[in-house]
Amino acid sequence: MIKITITQIRKELGKNQPFSFKVSAEELGLNEEQFSVEEDVLIDGLITNKGTVLEVTGKINARLEQCCSRCLENMVTVLTIPFSEEYREIELKRNEENSDSEEINYFSDDEIDITDLIRESILLAEPIKPVCSETCRGLCPKCGANLNINTCGCNPTKIDPRLAVLGKLLSKD
Ligand SMILES: [Zn+2]
Ligand SMILES: [Zn+2]
Repeated sequence: MIKITITQIRKELGKNQPFSFKVSAEELGLNEEQFSVEEDVLIDGLITNKGTVLEVTGKINARLEQCCSRCLENMVTVLTIPFSEEYREIELKRNEENSDSEEINYFSDDEIDITDLIRESILLAEPIKPVCSETCRGLCPKCGANLNINTCGCNPTKIDPRLAVLGKLLSKD
């Protein structure tokens, strides 16, 4: 659980207070199948008292262990993920029952738990198709050799230049 103590800041309108955490994937509730972090995740941020809400902003630094989507070698992706969220005191909720308050986060005690915010931010930022390098040549479709390391004896298929252009466009997503 990653909790920011707000005992002081909630009383001080307009003030801000820095925070920083170093947490493991386990503490974030991320299991290894979902995601593998190479080192602890670093979180730095600032909490600001804006009157009706406390604003939490900052950035996450995480090193993910992934497989290259082309050559399947292990690789490390370094992510810097910004986050920003507002939290409102739970007592204020009763007055707003009819407004669409689904997007609003609430706090009740002297702590704000940002575990979910951090976990969701990392999962959203995780690259779906990571590549170890933009120039990664991938695996030979015939024999499976890693073409970054060695060339195999298979004949490279001749590609129509017009199709090659199309291929480039498709791989840009
Ligand atoms: Zn690769
Ligand atoms: Zn081959």
